[in-house]
Amino acid sequence: MTGLHNPLSLIEARTLILSHLVPTQIEKVPLEKATGRVLREDLIAPFTSPEKNLSTMDGYAVSGLQCDSWSVIGEIPAGTTYDADLSSGNAIRVFTGSQLPQYTDAVIPQELISLHNTTISIAPDHKQKPKPLDFILAAGSDFQKNQTVLSQTRRISARDVSLAASLGYEQIAVSKSPRVTLISTGSELILPGKPLKQGQIYASNAFALASLVDLLGGKVLSLPPLVDNKSLLINTLAHALETSDLIVTIGGASVGNYDLVKPALAELNARLLFQRVNTRPGRPTFFALNNHNIPVLGLPGNPASCMVGSWIYLADIIRALSGLKTSPQLSLQSAVSLSPLPQGSHTDVFLRATFSNTANLAETKESEHHRLPAVSILPRQESGLNLPTAHAQILVFRKAHAHPLSINENVPILLPPHSFL
Ligand code: AMP
Ligand code: MG
Repeated sequence: MTGLHNPLSLIEARTLILSHLVPTQIEKVPLEKATGRVLREDLIAPFTSPEKNLSTMDGYAVSGLQCDSWSVIGEIPAGTTYDADLSSGNAIRVFTGSQLPQYTDAVIPQELISLHNTTISIAPDHKQKPKPLDFILAAGSDFQKNQTVLSQTRRISARDVSLAASLGYEQIAVSKSPRVTLISTGSELILPGKPLKQGQIYASNAFALASLVDLLGGKVLSLPPLVDNKSLLINTLAHALETSDLIVTIGGASVGNYDLVKPALAELNARLLFQRVNTRPGRPTFFALNNHNIPVLGLPGNPASCMVGSWIYLADIIRALSGLKTSPQLSLQSAVSLSPLPQGSHTDVFLRATFSNTANLAETKESEHHRLPAVSILPRQESGLNLPTAHAQILVFRKAHAHPLSINENVPILLPPHSFL
């Protein structure tokens, strides 16, 4: 397998990962818990809506538009029906949402009407005649019985939930939230809250990963950091493999003496699919499956490697495990770079960058670029730095061997994964 010796390309790595993921099982949830979940059934309309023509105004349903006046023969408050037909010259008081009787030609809003005893006519200051079908919502104009109104699989919006409720659904079938165990490894790591001893650092990366998983609808189990000890890793991984739909390890992914995650997985008979990708940061990223096909994503421990890895692998892994369609292609947008860029290196590179004020763009260029967002590359790009990683709003993607660019040229950018759930 090439990924075990030579690094895979980013697309190869994403293809391999996504082709091995199986969506979680289905569960039913009540509508009020459904927003943000992934729909796993087609929602079919059990009836036609509206069932009958409806009034869209408070006013009078009239029959016979050639008449000058109409006799008001009753009213149809919301929630009631009127089974008799309306004959020419007659009107009936209706309200927004009232079902209209047969042979209603139009609804005349109440503010256009003069009422004398039980006879209505158009008020003298409103000489415009009603037109056929004025203020009538036609039967069946929303949806038809047996129509598929929402197709699986999609992330359920608040509007989707209202639509499901309007069909009478009380519960809907969604994917179970993927259970994700995050394991930080490294003898130097401690949790925030304790004072640092010499040589220690705070285990910070898992916090960003946990928020991302949470935003994408996963259930996070974040373990305290583990010291670099193989049998401890084996035990922890073995337990996590029993209880998770995905494990993400942070740190210890490379080939140093203390990089023990892959050796521990090998002891558990997990199959390594690749262990290097031709990208920076994050080259020693690996992906493995145990014999029950539980996936393990191994991210290097540097903050930037973790951030980039979570954007380019983890987000789509969570989506795929939730049953959403994913593509091995990254979904890149265009921007204008306010920073010049040198010739690309021999690997694909993700540069941490921020959005900038377009006022810095030359006038002509701005119109040429159809007002694309302007971005500035952060000056410090070392992958061990926390501050520029936190400041980065986007990643600028530089393909291997890309041509050098002067300022104001177009660059592909990657937006944070939670900006398009
Ligand atoms: P490693 O991938 O284990 O070689 O770690 C690379 C660098 O990232 C080292 O400087 C580690 O101290 C640091 N590091 C590893 N894990 C974490 C973590 N969970 N949070 C912050 N830094 C980490
Ligand atoms: Mg380490």
